[in-house]
Amino acid sequence: MNAKIEISMKNQFHKPVLLLTLLFAQLFSYSAAFIHEHVNRAAVLSLPMSLKTFFYNHLDFITEESTIPDVRKYMFNDKGESARHFIDAENFGTIELLPGSMAEIQAKYDEVFLQKNGILPWYVQDLMTKLTKAFKEKRKTEILLLASDLAHYITDLNLPLHTCINYDGQLTDQKGIHSFWEAQIPELFGMNYNYNTGEPRQIEDVQKEILHTLSVSNRLSDTLLLKEKELSQNMFRDRIFQIDAGGLIRKNKFNQVVHTVDYARLYSANIHGMVEKQIRAAISMTANFWYTAWVDAGMPDVNGLDPQELTKSKAEQLKQDLQLWKAGKLSGFQSENEF
Ligand SMILES: [Zn+2]
Repeated sequence: MNAKIEISMKNQFHKPVLLLTLLFAQLFSYSAAFIHEHVNRAAVLSLPMSLKTFFYNHLDFITEESTIPDVRKYMFNDKGESARHFIDAENFGTIELLPGSMAEIQAKYDEVFLQKNGILPWYVQDLMTKLTKAFKEKRKTEILLLASDLAHYITDLNLPLHTCINYDGQLTDQKGIHSFWEAQIPELFGMNYNYNTGEPRQIEDVQKEILHTLSVSNRLSDTLLLKEKELSQNMFRDRIFQIDAGGLIRKNKFNQVVHTVDYARLYSANIHGMVEKQIRAAISMTANFWYTAWVDAGMPDVNGLDPQELTKSKAEQLKQDLQLWKAGKLSGFQSENEF
């Protein structure tokens, strides 16, 4: 069952609690599964052969695991999890002046502040250190789990609305833009996106790269909110939202407003394909970071971690998937639609 529905059923006789829960749950009850699964899968295919064979052997795990960090957040109610997925960057001051490590940011701000404003960039840094260590020690399960998790948070960092205070347009009367941007639009048009981002490169300064990405994402959040405001301003409600028989705005199963397909198309054009661009940025950053962790670990031979039979049994499928991926396409899985 969806986390939000479950919570609201439990609390149906406690109105104030219910309201608070709904308020909280509404912001976090979706997972952008489409984006996360596509990013993780595409990143595997872009790796150099020395890494790709091993990662491809576990392609389904890496794809499925891409949404687990969100599941930890709202299904298991993991207290520390939420703050890892976002940063209200405006509350931290100048991004370029932020420290790069978790220890430094924890020395500067107390735990309450960090839980409220998010720790996403420093969590990415933390996972990167752990993944490098796992590669060094050739710990197969840890490599797979950490690489998949890292990809999730790198993707969040490249989703502009995860990096700003006005993350659901709630401050500017644009509520619903978060799921519109991260779920409805990619679900509508994602089959036409190009998921081939080329070969990864080694990142010299990981901390700098993370803060640079944050800065780009945060600037894009302004743009995407402003563009939506401009577009919707002089438009009738029924052109923007799907309206049900009773005259109300239609909602999906997560209680999020549903936009019209025409409006989604128009908006995508107005932001010049920013959704696809950010998905591509996430794929390429994920592959760069996996590759860099492996290089920094001394390029260990990971192919020996799997039995040869497994690699052999996957070889033909890999060839076919690479053929498709060269044309920018992914196959062999189905994301659970939220819209
Ligand atoms: Zn997330």
